Amino acid sequence: MDNVTFDEFINFVKEYNPDEVERVTKAYDVACRMHEGQYRDSGEPYVTHPLQVAYILAEMEADGDTLCAALLHDALEDTPLIKEDIEILFSPSVANLVDGVTKLARLNFSSKEDQNFANTRKIINSVREDVRIIIIKLADRLHNMRTLGYKSKFKQKENAIETMEIYVPFAYNLGCYQIKRELEDLAFRYLKEDEYKRIFDERAKIVSDNEAMLNQMGEDINKALLAGGIDNRIIARIKNIYGIYSKLEKGYKYSDIHDLLALKIIEGNIKDCYSSLYYIHNRFLPIHDKFRDYIASPKTNKYQSLHTTVLSPFENLVQCQIRTDLMDRIDTYGLPAYWNTDKGYARTRMQEELKRDYQFYTSLKEIDSIFKDNQEFVTQVKEELFTDKVYVSVNGETKELPKGSTGIDLAYKVDPINANRLTNLEVNNELFPRDYVLQNRDRVQIISGDEVTVDESWLEHAHTSHAKELIKLKLKEESN
Ligand code: MN
Repeated sequence: MDNVTFDEFINFVKEYNPDEVERVTKAYDVACRMHEGQYRDSGEPYVTHPLQVAYILAEMEADGDTLCAALLHDALEDTPLIKEDIEILFSPSVANLVDGVTKLARLNFSSKEDQNFANTRKIINSVREDVRIIIIKLADRLHNMRTLGYKSKFKQKENAIETMEIYVPFAYNLGCYQIKRELEDLAFRYLKEDEYKRIFDERAKIVSDNEAMLNQMGEDINKALLAGGIDNRIIARIKNIYGIYSKLEKGYKYSDIHDLLALKIIEGNIKDCYSSLYYIHNRFLPIHDKFRDYIASPKTNKYQSLHTTVLSPFENLVQCQIRTDLMDRIDTYGLPAYWNTDKGYARTRMQEELKRDYQFYTSLKEIDSIFKDNQEFVTQVKEELFTDKVYVSVNGETKELPKGSTGIDLAYKVDPINANRLTNLEVNNELFPRDYVLQNRDRVQIISGDEVTVDESWLEHAHTSHAKELIKLKLKEESN
């Protein structure tokens, strides 16, 4: 990817946020002066890096504070500039962002030192004050991963592992799928070079073999929808390299990956999304057990869409992802879909969205209140927010939980009151005890009796802090 010049960047900013051009230009001038004489491993002047980072953020229409902070994000670490300088030259808000990004770089889940646990807790909790810190850091990591080829083999591996362990989950938790997919592919490329190359080539063949068919299907659907009075635009997409790899690892064949080939069908309103199903299923045979309604029950990172997998005229599986414009923007950018560039309002708006709709925030808050010990806090955050998820269906609704969750966690997620009387689970038509560890695609029925069944042992079998918190409350209530 070619570097953008400052002129290209600032013209882009002018388009969506003209009021901030002056301040952002000033931040660039300061960055140029501070990083003068410093060079990247690629041989380019250092300031090209903060400039590309700021551009990645401008593409998401970031606010002025964020752009200034992005331009200055390495200045505290690598130049004589201090936080107070940024406060005076710009604002306390820009200074806090730069300071936060600088500290976030020290986030480390592996070190076993007490000092580190305390530090990690502080860093993680700073997100609850200003989530833009993570978003800047994601853009920073993305640009570093794009240019990782210039680093030593050792550094490449180290950064790739850290990206998978810390930044991919951050991107997922905030719903930033575009960044997540690119980070995954870049990290995978340095972690498993041969497999990356193999799947890269196989994917290129899939693209050339199926492009025409996908476009034709898209046109058919577009016409049928227009005839039905539904305005729409359709984009074909093929799963990313790491996404394909994960499926192959689980034993799937290419032909069985139900979302390898997909069409994004974007519409004006929610009602049209549901109506579209009629036109699509009328033309293409749906695979019934692949239907998901993430509009009625969004993912925990606010992802929304209807998913239906249908058979193409050549019998390939094609996933149709039906959503509104806003849902599509949230799929692409995640929480950053909500920047509000009105003077100083971006932070408030983002924090409001984060608090209201993102499980990441709620879980962090719960974990923070339950675990006083720093090491326990860090362990729980890692296990709950930085691991893979499992998806199970309960009464036809898809529920997302951290990997390792049991029937107890599920019960408290679905119905906290009745969970106190949980006895068993029926999983795929077989009876299991309540501490059964959930697996992807399980169809679960929660069975509860008339009596309260909660006891101390449930705390050991619960995995999520949400369930643990509610169990503790109930135990307290029972003992009174
Ligand atoms: Mn940087």
